[in-house]
Amino acid sequence: MAEKSSNVVWHGSSVGREERRRVYGHGGAALWFTGLSGSGKSTVAHRVEEMLVERGCFTYVLDGDNVRHGLNSDLGFSPEAREENIRRIGEVTRLFVDAGALTLAAFVSPFQKDRDRVREKLAAGDFIEVFVDTPLEVCEKRDPKGLYKRARAGEIPDFTGIHQPYEAPTKAEIVLKTAELDVDACADAVIKYLERRGVLQGG
Ligand code: ADP
Repeated sequence: MAEKSSNVVWHGSSVGREERRRVYGHGGAALWFTGLSGSGKSTVAHRVEEMLVERGCFTYVLDGDNVRHGLNSDLGFSPEAREENIRRIGEVTRLFVDAGALTLAAFVSPFQKDRDRVREKLAAGDFIEVFVDTPLEVCEKRDPKGLYKRARAGEIPDFTGIHQPYEAPTKAEIVLKTAELDVDACADAVIKYLERRGVLQGG
């Protein structure tokens, strides 16, 4: 681990939040998708992003696998590594939100305390927890990447839902039941929430 620097001072931006809102025509916020593997986090997040881009929004999806290829390629799946994974993603999310982006984070993020830590890092109202509430049996049946099959065969240890717990959010701002609603309806529910909260209004 590199030595911590003691002579680093945070440099505030001369461009404020309201100015960014005026330029982009909407506020910055984090939509934090959490749920089991195969629950539909990536699918819905990318659909929401498409809808937002159609409206001319500044948006970006931070996706579990992609981040693990780069920024977090040194981390595994033990509870400690998962905690560090989410901590770093939380920091990146905070920077994106600060930049005024509608930031969609799609990570299993199984532990409530790790999600709460990200929530605490952001201003009140900027962290929108989206619980992709899909029963384990449905996720396992979908198995889009064949991971459940491999986990059941003992090829993947530490798999959430099988070897490790998933702590369902108790105070999520949005709950999506993907076994009952199709992708577009789920994405629509997210857009409606942003509209209701005034996030999609310009300055
Ligand atoms: P995760 O990112 O949570 O691991 P994915 O989005 O990669 O999950 O995979 C979810 C799978 O479930 C995809 O194959 C998708 O087509 C399917 N699916 C079926 N119905 C829905 C729905 N309503 N919302 C999201 N995904 C759905």
